[in-house]
Amino acid sequence: MKKITRDELIKNNKPLIIAGPCAVESRTQIRTIAKELSKMGVKILRCQLWKPRTDPASFQGVGLRGLRWIEEIKKEHNEVLITTEITDKDQIGATKGIVDILWVGARNMQNYELLKAVARDSRPVILKRGLIATVDEWIRAAKYIGLDKVILCERGIRTGADSMRFTLDVNGALVAKHDHRMPVIIDPSHTAGRADMVPYLAYAGIAAGMDGIVAEVHHQPEKALCDASQQILPEVFRQIIENVNTISQLKYQKRPVESVDFSLQERDLSKQLTKKPARTLLSLGVRDRVGLLRDILTVFADFDINLTKLKSKHSKLKGLDYYFEVEVESAAKEKRLTQALKILREFCPEIKILGEY
Ligand code: PEP
Ligand code: MN
Repeated sequence: MKKITRDELIKNNKPLIIAGPCAVESRTQIRTIAKELSKMGVKILRCQLWKPRTDPASFQGVGLRGLRWIEEIKKEHNEVLITTEITDKDQIGATKGIVDILWVGARNMQNYELLKAVARDSRPVILKRGLIATVDEWIRAAKYIGLDKVILCERGIRTGADSMRFTLDVNGALVAKHDHRMPVIIDPSHTAGRADMVPYLAYAGIAAGMDGIVAEVHHQPEKALCDASQQILPEVFRQIIENVNTISQLKYQKRPVESVDFSLQERDLSKQLTKKPARTLLSLGVRDRVGLLRDILTVFADFDINLTKLKSKHSKLKGLDYYFEVEVESAAKEKRLTQALKILREFCPEIKILGEY
């Protein structure tokens, strides 16, 4: 078996596409799904042989005997890579030579003895985020394995929101990717818990710049032995891949993480917040009358324009008695100022804009 490294998996700037059923159920089932997925160019298959289930009475996976079927698939589909969740130390050795990428599931993210055992193996590892794990706990778990071997998988966490099975924590995924510089893929299937929402969550993850997706695909979802409600048909997945590839072409995502300087963005933002509002200096030529200044001030107040300076000067021009030099807190073209000036023209025969700064 040709050895593959974590960096080789994510190096080509194309989203990593991983798919397969929730569980390997039978030889025919996994071969049928593998065939469909290979046809559409999927290069990494999830082939789960051991299933950590909440209910001990439910299907627990086919176990070791499924390894033979996986071997066959690898022979039939050249270059296909296999990822399998391991739930016990013994499975690490047992899958050697067949499984290319190890996988630690959400429930075992903090099974430190398992993580240490995985660390002794050289294969890349998909590390799913625990159901209520913080990003910090997730990263520290990855450190047990070795950060350079790990691809993190955001699979939704438990929050107060219960509209779907879990809540996709895009924020957490972004922090893991940008602050900790880790590759992150997202699992829209376990997040959603329902097939119809899987595409949108996949797109959300890719639009956020994540490195790929891992989705549950089954040729007969209604007959699936676990997670039947969230598994999607191969033809739906084909569409998802197309859209995911299109979304991932967005320019901003091509920018390497290293070039994103968040501190700069923060500085820009604070500059923006402390930026002084624009000011305009006006000259209003007027004819003297009782109450004129009050009327002028009322118009500015009516349009919510703050006055920062006011000076009056005698005019030597015929027809004008005074000039009021007024500095206002507004850009010259701002609608409220142009509207105020329109009204002021009724009692100020000459209005000039002296400057804007
Ligand atoms: C799975 O991917 O099949 C699975 C069990 O997911 P999780 O560990 O995220 O619950
Ligand atoms: Mn599942």
